[in-house]
Amino acid sequence: MYKYVGAEEIRETTAHLPPGSRILSTNDIDDWIRETKQQVDASGLIAATFVVDCEGYLIIADRHSEHIACAGGKRVLSAGEIFFQKFKNDLEIAEITNQSTGFCPEPESWQHVANALNLIKIPYPSSFNVEFIFRRCFACSQINIVKDNIFICSVCKVKLPQKWNFDR
Ligand SMILES: [Zn+2]
Repeated sequence: MYKYVGAEEIRETTAHLPPGSRILSTNDIDDWIRETKQQVDASGLIAATFVVDCEGYLIIADRHSEHIACAGGKRVLSAGEIFFQKFKNDLEIAEITNQSTGFCPEPESWQHVANALNLIKIPYPSSFNVEFIFRRCFACSQINIVKDNIFICSVCKVKLPQKWNFDR
């Protein structure tokens, strides 16, 4: 389970917002797209913020939403960005990532995502399309996204640990 590790002011300024929508079926996604007037992006996809709540359900919100707001301030099993593709009568998940600097979930949280998506019965990728690796710098507290396997803090240049190092 992941607790929020992002900026406290984001938690405070989003605390009054309603949580995201719990998704139990593709109909729920269609309803959400219609009710929130989602538009396709340049790639023809509909992007959203998602979390998997502690009961194992997918929760989605507008892509500009903070993950902590989507989660209703609660802990999550995973978090990231999800991209839906709409066909005439079908919906599928074209892409999904664990990009959330609010929760910094590990790539291994995929299993919870897959379980949540199995409940919805929607086609989805076999893993995160992009796996983000998050580490907090011990020296300056900066949350880093590790790229190209280079474990160095982008701010103060000290070494980052090989192991995931946020509080649960
Ligand atoms: Zn640092």
